[in-house]
Amino acid sequence: DLALEVCGLTKIYPDGTLAVDDIDFSITDGDFCVLIGPSGCGKSTTLHSLVGKIPVTEGEIRLGGKNVTDAPTYERDIGLVFQDFQLFPHLTVEENIAYGLERLGVEKDERTTRVNDIVEMMRLGDLIERQPEELSAGQKQRVALARSMVLEPRLLLLDEPLGDMDYKLQKHMERELLRLHRELDTTFVYVTHDQTQAMRLADQIVVMNDGKVEQSDTVERVYNEP
Ligand code: ADP
Ligand code: ADP
Repeated sequence: DLALEVCGLTKIYPDGTLAVDDIDFSITDGDFCVLIGPSGCGKSTTLHSLVGKIPVTEGEIRLGGKNVTDAPTYERDIGLVFQDFQLFPHLTVEENIAYGLERLGVEKDERTTRVNDIVEMMRLGDLIERQPEELSAGQKQRVALARSMVLEPRLLLLDEPLGDMDYKLQKHMERELLRLHRELDTTFVYVTHDQTQAMRLADQIVVMNDGKVEQSDTVERVYNEP
């Protein structure tokens, strides 16, 4: 089954910039997809269109077979993890993770169960009382992931989430992400400009350049071409 289908997506900003030019790609349910391309090629614009943060100019976005092109963000069932994590600074780790469930009106008992499950899976048990400022970069990353994953989105978008980390921590977090991807059984869309990262992480790669999708295929076929 397809988790995501993007058909003829085009985005022209109000100032006339053609940021995304009639792109097509699809992602199979459960895949780890890496969206890659140089700075300015349209990755963020694509991501923001998927989430519903910006209106598209033309084209269609389907999630799990459902047309969500004009649906509001909260109806899209997409989780988003930013490069700078954007944790709520005044809330503890536990409160950060529970926040979305509270807003959705999930009852206390179920909230507690779901938060505890994800805390265990992400190995955050020792940190739940801490404030974000008391966490390392790797720990913040795990909290940001937990906060999205607890909502059980159909698709998890990760916008250069390891961009600011040093190499050693990056490698560690890549292994964590691959483990979580296996355990959570969710479709990941991971945005980066780093080809070596893409090769380590991806099942499928979508290569963008200058507002277009140049290739969309398995990692083996994209990087082993004659
Ligand atoms: P990437 O994420 O790959 O760096 P972006 O999607 O941010 O690429 O940008 C694609 C193109 O759209 C670039 O030329 C960029 O300058 C332009 N762009 C991005 N945001 C806006 C905006 N709000 N208004 C006008 N042009 C924009
Ligand atoms: P854990 O070790 O509990 O998984 P982290 O994911 O935060 O916690 O850290 C993973 C590894 O990266 C550890 O070896 C840790 O010492 C190291 N590390 C943590 N934060 C940083 C950082 N900001 N810069 C460099 N290395 C870090």
